[in-house]
Amino acid sequence: MKKVVIIGGGVAGLSAGIFAQKNGFESVILEKHHTLGGECTGWDRQGYHIDGCIHWLVGTKQGTPINDLWKTVGALDGVDVYQPDSFLTFEHNGTQVNFYRDLERLKSSWLEISPEDEEAINDFCQAIEKLQSFEIPTGKPMDMMNVLEKVKFMLSMKDAGMIMQKYGKISLLDYANSFKHPALSGALAYFVPEDFGASASSIIFAMGSFTKGQAGIPLGGSRALALRMKERYLSLGGVVESPCEATSLSIENNKVTSVICNNGKTFTADYFIAACDAKVLFERLLKGEYNDPEFEKRYNNPTDYPLASEVRIALGYAGKMNEIPRTLRFPVAPVKVGANAVDYLTLTHYDYEPGFAPEGHSVITVSVNQEAADYEVWQALSQDKQAYREEKGRIGEDVLQAIVTRLPHMEGKIKVLDVATPKTFESYCNAYRGSFMAFWPTVRSKELAHTGQIKGLDNIVLSGQWLQPPGGLPTALITGKDTIMRICKQERKKFVLN
Ligand SMILES: Cc1cc2nc3c(=O)[nH]c(=O)nc-3n(C[C@H](O)[C@H](O)[C@H](O)COP(=O)(O)OP(=O)(O)OC[C@H]3O[C@@H](n4cnc5c(N)ncnc54)[C@H](O)[C@@H]3O)c2cc1C
Repeated sequence: MKKVVIIGGGVAGLSAGIFAQKNGFESVILEKHHTLGGECTGWDRQGYHIDGCIHWLVGTKQGTPINDLWKTVGALDGVDVYQPDSFLTFEHNGTQVNFYRDLERLKSSWLEISPEDEEAINDFCQAIEKLQSFEIPTGKPMDMMNVLEKVKFMLSMKDAGMIMQKYGKISLLDYANSFKHPALSGALAYFVPEDFGASASSIIFAMGSFTKGQAGIPLGGSRALALRMKERYLSLGGVVESPCEATSLSIENNKVTSVICNNGKTFTADYFIAACDAKVLFERLLKGEYNDPEFEKRYNNPTDYPLASEVRIALGYAGKMNEIPRTLRFPVAPVKVGANAVDYLTLTHYDYEPGFAPEGHSVITVSVNQEAADYEVWQALSQDKQAYREEKGRIGEDVLQAIVTRLPHMEGKIKVLDVATPKTFESYCNAYRGSFMAFWPTVRSKELAHTGQIKGLDNIVLSGQWLQPPGGLPTALITGKDTIMRICKQERKKFVLN
């Protein structure tokens, strides 16, 4: 039996492991952390569970290919999905803008706010509706398709292609500014950080998925989802080594012969899959000797290929959120977070998850996007443990104060205050610059669709979110599967999905 070693037990590593086992390989997952899931995780604080990932999971609509794939890896087995009525409620000068799941409701509520934006609103809703037919491709990766399959694939992407043509080269900010009402333009502009130069298509794709019920939230949260995948992997005979960080590779004659880990163990295999951060593979494990020009181009041009991280402030609150929308974005007096001050906060509560907090209590998170300059601030601060801790504490208190100003009934009822920074994601997951996804698509950037092959090495491949920016959980799932499909092809084996 051929042996596969998988470095990294995030969703991509778990997916690769599950399909390796299904296809008759002997596999082991090496994970640096004590738990599996990578960025798809959550943590417990004094009786509260803080979800660290899923705002939405593309793939929650029954009967769609991506939903079937999530089920094949056990991620959605017997799990109810919460489908919020509104993805986000944006407040501006007393007006609330809702991104409703019901597209007709979204349209009529926006027209009520701004009749003079009728044409733009109709256009927006039509584009979203068109994209409801879009399905993330989960079959063969492009490089394995024959000509006929490629033609069929291109035809299936017709609607998405039309939207990309129309909205792919307009920045989201310019698009938002084409709406006359400041509440509508503010709500649209929020979707991705302003300086990214992200295209307007990002919001249309997102809303296409959300309004068709394809982007719900599996109950139990992110960590539980990852642990269900781990159970599926173990039930198929897979082996997990954790905590176990891969620190170097032995290479002979264009082949990796073994991986050496920080716990003193060495693993040999026929194939090695790096389902960890791409930079970890290129720089730490391959010591910069097998760099890929496509990745280099992107690492060296953070303006056109920005990376995003966040500061995540979590609160344990002794009360219920009752009338408060699940995700509320509201104006605040400026709060400095990282390099800059923010004047809006986005709060999400988890009252739909009874298991996340003691009876009668709530968990709330606030996510503040962090960009390149912010990362530098955190990097510098992290050199001085006390200063780093104090800054986290200061931000927690300032954010709490801003929330209490908007929601005064919460005053004095906060039991837990927890702050994660880009350095947290970096230290737990080895995430490059704390990134929560891969390179962000912008109006200036070129798409990357990478096979994961490393030029000059025959038996090690990269897998995971970095192969198909912007990444995200479905990408991790699909690339894990695709990696095993390619290895099966190399072995002249027929790939088995189920
Ligand atoms: C705050 C936040 C919110 C998010 N929200 C969403 C969302 O709503 N929807 C969505 O689709 N996506 C979301 N994402 C993105 C999503 O979590 C990631 O795209 C996805 O989990 C990436 O999976 P991966 O397996 O490719 O990589 P990772 O999750 O980074 O997994 C890599 C694994 O490799 C391990 N590792 C690294 N180096 C080594 C080594 N040397 N040896 C051994 N192990 C190693 C790491 O510990 C990690 O477990 C969010 C991410 C964050 C952080």
